[in-house]
This record gives sequence, C-alpha cells and structure tokens, in this order.
Amino acid sequence: MYCRNLREMINLNPIQRGGIIPKETKKVIYEFWDGYSICDFCQGKLDEIEHPNIKHFLEEVAEWLNIDFVRVTHGAREGKFAVMHAICKEGDYVILDSNAHYTSYVSAERAKLNIAKVGYEEKYPTYKINLDDYKKVIDELEDKNKNIGLILLTHVDGNYGNLNDAKKVGKIAREKGIPFLLNCAYSVGRMPVDAKKLKADFIVASGHKSMAASGPIGILGFREEFYDKIAKPSQNFPKKEIEFLGCTSRGLPIITLMSSFPYVKERVKKWNEEIKKTRYVVEELEKVGFKQLGIKPKEHDLILFETPVLDDIAKKDKRRGYFFYDELKKRGIGGIKPGVTKEIKMSVYGLEWEQVKYVINSIKEILLQF
Ligand SMILES: *Cc1c(COP(=O)(O)O)cnc(C)c1O
Repeated sequence: MYCRNLREMINLNPIQRGGIIPKETKKVIYEFWDGYSICDFCQGKLDEIEHPNIKHFLEEVAEWLNIDFVRVTHGAREGKFAVMHAICKEGDYVILDSNAHYTSYVSAERAKLNIAKVGYEEKYPTYKINLDDYKKVIDELEDKNKNIGLILLTHVDGNYGNLNDAKKVGKIAREKGIPFLLNCAYSVGRMPVDAKKLKADFIVASGHKSMAASGPIGILGFREEFYDKIAKPSQNFPKKEIEFLGCTSRGLPIITLMSSFPYVKERVKKWNEEIKKTRYVVEELEKVGFKQLGIKPKEHDLILFETPVLDDIAKKDKRRGYFFYDELKKRGIGGIKPGVTKEIKMSVYGLEWEQVKYVINSIKEILLQF
C-alpha cells in the first residue's frame, strides 16, 4: 500500500500532525465511502441536512468557535477566497501580515484584489510581525485614497509557528470599520480559538491541517453582519448559495470532520500539555546544537529549527543531506523533509510523552554517531 510505512511511523510533519484521524473516524469511513454519500436526505442545502446531522454539527461548531454562522468549504483557502469575493470590490486592498500563507495571496489574486503587507518587528531570528503597523498601513492607504476591503491576519503561520495576538488587530479593524479575517488553518482544532474574544469577523479553519479530518475540508465562520453577502442565494436557485457554488463538501471529507469533532473538542482542552511537550523538545534539542527560530518560548506546536550541526554532518557523509532522513527512518521516525539540513520543521503535537522522549533521544543518538 502506498506510504504504508510512513503511516506506521512517528510522523513529525507539522502539516500532518493535526490531521491524523482517530480510530472512531476510520470506522465511519466504511459507511460513507461512495460518492455523494451524504446526499440521501438533502432538501437542497448542505448545511441543513439532518441525516447525517450536518445541521446540528455546524451549529455546534459555530458555538464552539463563538461565531454567528458557519459554512463548510473545501479548505481554509476556499474560505478566504469566498470572503474576499463576497465582500470586496475588484481593485480593493487586502492588508495582510508578512508571514501570510501563499493561499492568502492566491485568493486575493483570484478575487482581483491588491495586496499591502504589514512587516516585521524583527526579522531573524523571531520573525515577529509588527501588529501595530496594521494601523500605519491602513493610514498610508487611506491617505492615497485607496479602498481597503479586508484585513487579514495569519493566526499561526506555517513557517515559524508564531502565534499572533489577534485581538490587537481585531481592535484596530473594528476602530477603522474594516472587516477582519483571521486565518486559523494552524490553530482551530489544535488550540482554543474564540472568534468574539479575538474580534474576528471571519474565521477560516482547515479540517485536514488541524481538525483530524481526512479532508479536503475547511470551515468558514462569519458574523451576522455579513450574512447577506456571504450566504447570498442564487437568483435562479434560491436554496443555493453563490459563494459556495451551491454546495461544497459532498461526501467523506465532511463525514470525517464530523466524526472527529468530539475528539477534537477534547484535545483542544489539552493545549497546555502540547505546549509543554513542544518547549521540552526545544530545550533538549538546543542542547545539541539546534536553534529554534520564531518567537520564544514557543506558543504553538510547529517548530522551525536552524540546524548547522546537521549541515556539518551532511558535508562529510556520503548520503549528503539525506543522512538525517535515512537515520530517522531506521528508527521509525518520518515527516522530516528528505535532503534538507539547514533548517528543519517538526511538531510533536498529539504524541505521547514517551514518544516525544523517543524522538529526542533518537535525534541525539544520530548526532552522537558522527
Ligand atoms: C495550511 C495552511 C493553509 C491552507 O489550508 P487549506 O485548508 O489546505 O486550504 C492556509 N493558511 C495557513 C497559515 C496554513 O498553514
């Protein structure tokens, strides 16, 4: 079977750790693996299907995120595009942070919008975004008579795993009366997120990234104020919402998201423990020459290490950069990019403490060999 080995290994790939599905969900897959399998009792609206109970599920998700309405998308990116397309006009500006994901750019391009960037408070080594600069960028654009359609903040970015103080930006956005979208692809489903508290008008989440779903699947949460624009019905088919092309997830992806939801709600409550594990990994691996980049101490499970020690070994070993991947694989550990030794990204989210210690000891053992 394809990739069977990796599935049986300890997987350290940050994009995959939050998407590992629990046993309960694996069983449900067998009942719903056919195409359009959720459509038996559909009256025309995906979010109102009661068997399986998608309607109830979405109400629960909205309550959990503390936001007025929720829709299902195919991923975080589709949520961002839907919002931009629905509430911005062609040529408007989207203001985003310098750690924004490429899908934020692509969404804006597809919606024919311009982009303005908020820079860093510090580049190397923390790459911390200067959140106060949202104000500055807004003022500059307003001075030039540009229309700002949306403010976007990456709650946790995929490069450094930096957690941003979203409330700060939320407040600026509210004061200026500009809609605020918080990209929670790396946060919702891993850690607690409360949209009202963070003053987000829109929240996008990723099922396959962080909500223990097979995917592709995402969540878009939005405030009532924007209901008419986001949930605008087709003139020809009044039950079909335009931004979602009438219907989004039509089978297994949403089933896995729903089935894993009780598990996800529970695991989010244990976020403090995840942070403890993450900081422990940093502490131990910095003893042997790794250097954690991004904000310190860690506030998210994604760790980016600068790894000059690995680079030195790669220069001497005949396997070159692949030695590390190779040595980890021998020890049943996967998910580190093959061939890369200057920097490595990893996460131990959801691993047992014993597994975390095993990973650390394995890495130390590999280093000692050379
Ligand atoms: C992974 C990721 C995305 C993309 O998520 P999809 O659900 O696959 O569209 C968007 N933003 C950030 C910050 C990410 O890390």
